[in-house]
Amino acid sequence: MKEMKFETKVIHVGGEPDPVTGAIMPPIFQTSTYVQSSPGEHKGYEYTRSHNPTRTRLETLLASLENAKHCLVTSSGLAASSLIMHMLPKGSKIICGDDVYGGTYRLFTKVFQDMHEFHFVDTTNLSTFETAVDKIKPALIWVETPTNPLLKISDIKGISAIAKKNGAMTVVDNTFMSPYFQNPITLGADIVIHSMTKFINGHSDVVGGAMMFNSDDLHKKLFYLQNAIGPCQSPFDSWLVIRGIKTLALRMKAHQENAMKIAKFLETHPKVEKVIYPGLTSHPQHALAKSQMSGFGGMITFFVKGGIEESRRFLENVHLFALAESLGGVESLVDHPAIMTHASIPKEVREGLGIYDNLIRLSVGVEDCDDLIGDLNTAFGKV
Ligand SMILES: *Cc1c(COP(=O)(O)O)cnc(C)c1O
Repeated sequence: MKEMKFETKVIHVGGEPDPVTGAIMPPIFQTSTYVQSSPGEHKGYEYTRSHNPTRTRLETLLASLENAKHCLVTSSGLAASSLIMHMLPKGSKIICGDDVYGGTYRLFTKVFQDMHEFHFVDTTNLSTFETAVDKIKPALIWVETPTNPLLKISDIKGISAIAKKNGAMTVVDNTFMSPYFQNPITLGADIVIHSMTKFINGHSDVVGGAMMFNSDDLHKKLFYLQNAIGPCQSPFDSWLVIRGIKTLALRMKAHQENAMKIAKFLETHPKVEKVIYPGLTSHPQHALAKSQMSGFGGMITFFVKGGIEESRRFLENVHLFALAESLGGVESLVDHPAIMTHASIPKEVREGLGIYDNLIRLSVGVEDCDDLIGDLNTAFGKV
């Protein structure tokens, strides 16, 4: 059969009708264990921490969407990141982008800091990055692109090539783009990770993570650790993701269409100091974004004119945009990173990166765009 397009894969891969009943939707195998016919003789399933048929279906689909051979689904995005850290030999040197998800930063600097050596480097500049690789000689490169919340973009192809030349492995956190807009493995990365909590599930009702890769050796090691440590996803949550992901292509197109209109609206608004959106020609890396992504996603960052007071008034007066952590759901959300998602990053580090008190992050949902713009306009009126 001809290689299917994304829109077809997301509906059909891993989704064969149930052979026993013909049910078009996969059963939820809500079971912890499986009956064996003779000791050690089973149908490939022994215990749900190791394998579960519902989770297997989701893994098959996700591997296919990232053009990878393997996928492991985990209980959260951070669980996937932790397993990768556990896999590295003690004392490994890691270069991590300097503007990563707050929880990733906390995991590396407060949990794994005694096990490995972390170096936070600006990965958006290839020559700075290459100098750092030469000096540090890392075992692993950790890149998030676009970053959260500054939407800085790193050149995945360039970074992976430099890493490979120096014997390092590249991990890309692809949460913001989803497999629909960006495929890091195709660009040379070794491992892709996702917080499925965000766009992949898309309905703000599941916490989950996934990692995809081609190497059988990585699969063996990471599966061993997942089973030995235990952060597997429950069958019901895997089933919810199987259901949510069916509309991923439709949702991503709608997120992007709304985000583009809202970014343009914000760019001309008198109460806005600056807008960051990879789809705007004003984004300093717009050309790179166009070359490695097939779309620009649903995340917008902007700076309201003023400081913490102006931000607070704006945030208290939006109604359709819900003030909440997280992102990537069908509903629009607004976040204040300095107080909410990135509070675990020390203020001087935050401000050094450009995360000031007047920075506001939008996760643009799939509602009617005029309603969303109306909501923002009303809130600006109260600032
Ligand atoms: C949310 C998020 C994570 C962590 O995922 P959880 O599912 O919350 O554990 C990692 N990276 C990025 C970019 C995220 O947005």
